[in-house]
Amino acid sequence: MDKNRFIADCMLGKLARWLRILSFDTQYVRYLTDAQLLAQARYQNRILLTKDSLLQKKAKNFGYLVRSETIDEQLKEILHHFQLRPNLALTRCPHCNFPLKTPDQNDPIPWAPLYVLRSFSNIKVCPQCGQTFWPGTHWNNIIKKLESINFHINE
Ligand SMILES: [Zn+2]
Repeated sequence: MDKNRFIADCMLGKLARWLRILSFDTQYVRYLTDAQLLAQARYQNRILLTKDSLLQKKAKNFGYLVRSETIDEQLKEILHHFQLRPNLALTRCPHCNFPLKTPDQNDPIPWAPLYVLRSFSNIKVCPQCGQTFWPGTHWNNIIKKLESINFHINE
């Protein structure tokens, strides 16, 4: 099983978003039934991250019970438990988990502030939802957050 693929239950939306920011393939669809979550975990070889111990038991070796309550603690728990190495190369859309791409010359210019457009190479777009991403000022906050949970990024 590929350790780096996840599916998160409806309690763990924030965690899913953070795992995507750190480049981990994490599916998160609100309003999936337990049966649907279990089926997707099995068929797509994903680890089911859940706050529900009953659901975790049903998922057997596919399930992982998230014990922490706050997002910082949850992130720390998952990164340590699965020995994950975060990647800050912006590879995955935080909103829809779709792999991001670097726009090429023929693509319409994505929306971004002028200073970002000047260094066009840093821009990534999501082919699924059309949003534009770039490592902006919030990037320092992300690095600070990782450092605050004792996770250092190799850049
Ligand atoms: Zn997207």
